[in-house]
Amino acid sequence: MLKTRLDRIQRDIEELAKFTCVEGIGCTRFTYTKEFAGARDYIVAEMKAAGLDVREDAVGIIIGRMEGKNPNAPVIMTGSHFDTVKTGGRFDGPAGVTAALETARTLHDEGFVPEVPIEFVALPEEEGARFGSGLFGSRAICGQLKPGEIENNRDWDGISVAEAMREYGLDPAKAAEAQRKPGEIGKFIELHIEQGPLLEKNKIDIGIVDAIVGLRVLNVHVHGRSDHAGNTPMHMRADTMLAAAKAITAGTEKAIALGEGTVMTCGRLETVPGAFNIVAKETFFQIDCRSKTLANVDKVLEVVRASLDKSCEEYAGLSYDMEEMVFASELPMQPEIKDVLRQSADEAGITYTDMLSGAGHDAMIMGSICGAAMVFVPSKDGRSHVPEEWTDYEDLQKGVEVVYRTVKQLASEK
Ligand SMILES: [Zn+2]
Repeated sequence: MLKTRLDRIQRDIEELAKFTCVEGIGCTRFTYTKEFAGARDYIVAEMKAAGLDVREDAVGIIIGRMEGKNPNAPVIMTGSHFDTVKTGGRFDGPAGVTAALETARTLHDEGFVPEVPIEFVALPEEEGARFGSGLFGSRAICGQLKPGEIENNRDWDGISVAEAMREYGLDPAKAAEAQRKPGEIGKFIELHIEQGPLLEKNKIDIGIVDAIVGLRVLNVHVHGRSDHAGNTPMHMRADTMLAAAKAITAGTEKAIALGEGTVMTCGRLETVPGAFNIVAKETFFQIDCRSKTLANVDKVLEVVRASLDKSCEEYAGLSYDMEEMVFASELPMQPEIKDVLRQSADEAGITYTDMLSGAGHDAMIMGSICGAAMVFVPSKDGRSHVPEEWTDYEDLQKGVEVVYRTVKQLASEK
């Protein structure tokens, strides 16, 4: 007999973690696989036990609905994704799913009848780990699937999204039916693990996300000339690696100076010919820059460009080109939901802080059609997307408590 909320949360996480295709190394649950179907069956059964009206939509989103006194009012929606990355952890995604399940169970046990409908959801393919194109479920809800992506995006075995959907029991021709009508969803609340070190380090129970960061990812190619590393004087070189190093350093310093959660990363750099005793004639690198506002991102990238321009003036024979690979505007979370989250935390004696989400989540897409908000719970040592990913169940429970109170409050308003 499971008595406490803590027991139920732990059971959800442990049961979902069993649906993995790689045993013993974290959790690997790719969208539309048999492990995914197993997790679906568990979630559906738990939703039904919580008295919800459960359906699976056209792309495999599990929706458990608690009808409101006004069934036509905009829906309060809460949940997260239930796919994982390869050999990831057990909390990224399922933490928000258990928050939804536990909120539903508690409201059901209380006999609560909401004024407006509540939908508890579990979403597919947020990570993009199988088909390379993430946020699939939320994009389907918001009508943002790209033409042809269901037919053309394929996994490592060449299986398309459409083929995998058929295998899973869905009709890919109906995928567009997952789109919800304008105004149908009023608010979306997602609990997620922080995937960073701040809450644990500062000993704060939960994070209330202020905004999901804006970001740009750039590919930069610097072109120059190869020369002998011994006999070419420094001022006569067209050293692409030197130009890249200066630009990366300048951008990093600007990011630090700007603050507001501004971060710049160069995680990939390649040189040609790539030998220790030859000046590099080509250097390719990628810059990932994120901040509370896209304006900050642009300031960092302006500094990167200015540094490259300066190198090109200084050294004859240097040039560069830049290409933007990824772009996303910042998304502020809805102030009205944030207020209720804060009030709920205060009432429950749970400490909180405002923070940025440096990663994209389904809430980011949902924010394009409704008010969105996110609650972060601590990640041990800030680790995520690794088997060591961990959140203490007591910590997760605090986040769940705030989501439960918030959903109840919002669904009580006429
Ligand atoms: Zn996630």
